Amino acid sequence: MSAGLNLAQQEAVNYMHGPCLVLAGAGSGKTRVITHKIARLIAAGLEPQRIAAITFTNKAATEMRERAKGLIGRDAKKVVICTFHALGVRMMREDGAVLGLKPQFSILDSDDVTSILKDAGGSTDTATARQWQWAISLWKNMGLNAAQALAQAKDDNERVTATIMARYEERLTAYQSVDFDDLIGMPLALLRDHPEVRAKWQALLGHVLVDEYQDTNATQYEVLKMLVGERGRFTAVGDDDQSIYGWRGATLDNLKKLPIDYPQLKVIKLEQNYRSTSAILRAANNVIGPNPKLYPKTLFSELGEGEPVRVVDADNEEHEAERTVARIQSIRAGITATGAGHEWREFAVLYRANHQARTFEKALRKAQIPYKVSGGQSFFDRAEIKDLCAWFRLWINNDDDPAFLRAVTTPKRGIGHTTLQALGSFSSKYKLSLFEALFSSSLGSVLPAKAVGSLHEFGRYVNDLEFRARHTHGAQDARAFMLEWLKDIDYEKHLYDGEDSEKLAASRWTNVLDFCDWMSARAGGEIDDTSGASIVSEKKSLLEVAQTIALLSTISEREQDQNVVTLSTLHAAKGLEWPHVMLVGVTEGMLPFKLGDDDNPTGRADGPMSEGILQRLQEERRLMYVGITRAQRSLAVSWTKRRKKGREMIAALPSRFIAEMALDKTTAKEDPREKLKALRAEFAKKAVDSAAAAAAATAASAP
Ligand code: ATP
Ligand code: MG
Repeated sequence: MSAGLNLAQQEAVNYMHGPCLVLAGAGSGKTRVITHKIARLIAAGLEPQRIAAITFTNKAATEMRERAKGLIGRDAKKVVICTFHALGVRMMREDGAVLGLKPQFSILDSDDVTSILKDAGGSTDTATARQWQWAISLWKNMGLNAAQALAQAKDDNERVTATIMARYEERLTAYQSVDFDDLIGMPLALLRDHPEVRAKWQALLGHVLVDEYQDTNATQYEVLKMLVGERGRFTAVGDDDQSIYGWRGATLDNLKKLPIDYPQLKVIKLEQNYRSTSAILRAANNVIGPNPKLYPKTLFSELGEGEPVRVVDADNEEHEAERTVARIQSIRAGITATGAGHEWREFAVLYRANHQARTFEKALRKAQIPYKVSGGQSFFDRAEIKDLCAWFRLWINNDDDPAFLRAVTTPKRGIGHTTLQALGSFSSKYKLSLFEALFSSSLGSVLPAKAVGSLHEFGRYVNDLEFRARHTHGAQDARAFMLEWLKDIDYEKHLYDGEDSEKLAASRWTNVLDFCDWMSARAGGEIDDTSGASIVSEKKSLLEVAQTIALLSTISEREQDQNVVTLSTLHAAKGLEWPHVMLVGVTEGMLPFKLGDDDNPTGRADGPMSEGILQRLQEERRLMYVGITRAQRSLAVSWTKRRKKGREMIAALPSRFIAEMALDKTTAKEDPREKLKALRAEFAKKAVDSAAAAAAATAASAP
């Protein structure tokens, strides 16, 4: 059991009967402690289904389950390994009835929320609705309901938003829907206000483990406390220097509160970094140095000095992308000190913001290098997938009005805007959902018979599909069902009609077919259900599969071992590692992101920085620290002399974090001759494997 764990890690793993906090820097084996502790708890006699390990993303959950499988085999399937949100869904499906929630409630995505808010606030302006959404989400994360938000509102603007929040909440109740924040807030209400529910969950869970604890928000901490009770059998692992979700309501107070709320808390520090070379770790430590310390930490590596960290400058983004590609090629071709024979999967290009990916994608495609973009637009954000999901949501919850509107108009089926408007006002007058209203006998008084007829036809079709989906089990039948349904509604034609470019329509249709495959694999029990809603993989009905999908942020759970270069935002790279990392756009104004106003975009001032700017700068610095510490063997940091600002190009400076890395003299600027050599070598190689690479690149770059 102690294989591959140092003494401090072993101590954390063996401490099972009380609250335990592992506080340590990047790459020190915190996540490893969690997987090993799962195995240790099982070995000590705790049933696997009584262990919950909470991860920050669905992807991290899948990865942890894989690692746990390596240690404990089939038992890994039974352990509850999921995000706080997925655990929340499970709790609400099981016990939400006491809050007046149907087990088949719908989970709204961000776009649904925006449009409901437009309606609730009487505005057609998306930007305004998004501002409300943001404010409401932060309030919810602080545990405030609409009335409490109103009571603490500081100005007119906040008062208006709180009033809209109240109307928004009414609508969610009417639609039997919840938003993502509710997936934390409602389980908390369940546990806090319903002692019998609390007792049930406390009895069920013998130990709760939380990864990335520094990025939990106030409500999540309350949920954790309720789940573990006074006994406090939990293990939290985290690193205050990697707290990068403050902008979304995560709070370091959760770390500060632990020793106060649990005086018996055992705090364990890990000091050895097993991930990075000394050169990389030194740069990381230097960057994080200026930030205030919650707990003092030291971190060392025994992996040797390694290659110096490189700083690469470029004229603009295109040039930066070219240089990045050249670096990947030269490392792969074995021209640098790291040796030859590198796989594509060993490389990651990390950046601050999603939109930065595009230039790098273009350059990689041009060089025929296969890649994937993670943490960008997820599969489920694509319009075609959302269309299909709207139908599922409607099967599961007939009262889901946003889903109703999407399904009834996609594809168009002769039910026009005026009909829907009349249906809408009829339904709000009689406090019915759109779906209920459609079958009301008095609907004929507000709509012509023909319109009523089309609505009835639609309603019956939805009911019929729902019935059949409930009785369709297993992969093969599920697939046949989906294809038949798509043919019925003529969805392929709908895609081609709606898209000017045939190529784009075709790729959308390919996504739809991929989605069908994926849904049917789930129905066949071939894919682990990471949603946490179910922990044993057996054959499921298509309806059950549909119930779990709103939560999954990515379809590519099984694609980790694809041999491709990763493009990722820094936020999405948290917890992960690659042998070779390129941090790009490390340009003042990008990273740190614009801190001040237009006149003083970098927030640099002669006088002292305001508290707000200072805090944002510190979070940006942690983001840089997270980026640097993803690298195992080589790290390059690049910046551009000019950067885009709106439509203009403006002169730019290297990020202050580059100076803060305090790279010593051994850091060489990248040698242009190296690049040339690399290109030559690559050119020779390309002749051999270009056909294979081209195929891979096309597959990887499908939009
Ligand atoms: P992060 O802060 O980035 O989340 P972490 O603290 O969770 O990092 P891990 O991802 O658990 O660190 O571990 C980093 C790397 O070090 C992994 O490749 C892991 O397998 C390895 N590692 C951790 N502990 C040991 C050990 N005792 N012996 C050998 N390798 C180890
Ligand atoms: Mg980790």
